[in-house]
Amino acid sequence: DVTTEHYFTTINDISKLIKPRKKFSHKGLYGHALLLCGGYGKMGAAVLAARACLRSGVGLLTMHVPSSGYPILQTAVPEAMTLTDNNRKHISGLPEDVEKFSVVGLGPGIGTEKITKTAIGQLLATSELPLVIDADAINIIASSEKLKAQLPKNKVIFTPHPKEFERLVGKSKNDYDRLQDMKEFCRVYSCYICLKGSHTAICTPEGKLYFNTTGNAGMATGGTGDVLTGVMTALVAQGYSLEEAAIVGVYVHGLAGDLALQKVGDIAMIASDLTDHLPQAFMALV
Ligand code: AMP
Ligand code: MG
Repeated sequence: DVTTEHYFTTINDISKLIKPRKKFSHKGLYGHALLLCGGYGKMGAAVLAARACLRSGVGLLTMHVPSSGYPILQTAVPEAMTLTDNNRKHISGLPEDVEKFSVVGLGPGIGTEKITKTAIGQLLATSELPLVIDADAINIIASSEKLKAQLPKNKVIFTPHPKEFERLVGKSKNDYDRLQDMKEFCRVYSCYICLKGSHTAICTPEGKLYFNTTGNAGMATGGTGDVLTGVMTALVAQGYSLEEAAIVGVYVHGLAGDLALQKVGDIAMIASDLTDHLPQAFMALV
């Protein structure tokens, strides 16, 4: 449809959106992110998201993880504060005082247990915070019309890979229709979607579409999506609009992948290489 705005994001567009650090600032000005991530055997997803969030400029980060993840998070990510769920293996509840946070990122490693679905229901029912929703949190919401109806308006970014997208939005006839279906979903639920892939497509509630131009096939490996969740959550915490956080987050994540490519190549690349190259990626943008 010719009436719609379509863009390719370039380094100039993204550089203009980066918020420079202010000399007399303190951590309170850069937001306090909450990440609900991790499950038994998938605590690495929480570690990757946490490291990425911290490497993306967040002021403070609190992790809420199943209790068996406590020593793992405290050891692997000393910069993050860690709260533990009552359940050992799965997230089954929320921290007290959720409203004190600037944003919640959720999904990486959480699984789709019923108790975890209940916790997400509680979050949607009680909070008006902006949300970055990924991985199994997408699958959980996709499985429930009730949860979909509770999504706060203009406050949610979904970051599905194609399979998660299909569960959330439905099966599309072809690639063109998939973009139309994405626009319709974003309009109906007043949300943002980043449909991840070789050229991640970002859609706004108004149906604006951005196509990302960074990234490479080395990123087709476990954990890279969890890194994106951390990056985007940090940007929202710092006051980027959801539209800015989505396009900047996807761009810088891909740029970290392109910088990692120069060091490790595409075959050996792992998700930690992305967190390791976020510093250079941000430095290239300011
Ligand atoms: P996930 O499937 O959730 O781990 O997310 C994978 C991440 O890697 C997304 O950000 C994708 O955009 C990115 N990615 C995967 N495959 C490719 C590819 N062939 N080219 C560029 N980026 C990719
Ligand atoms: Mg993923």
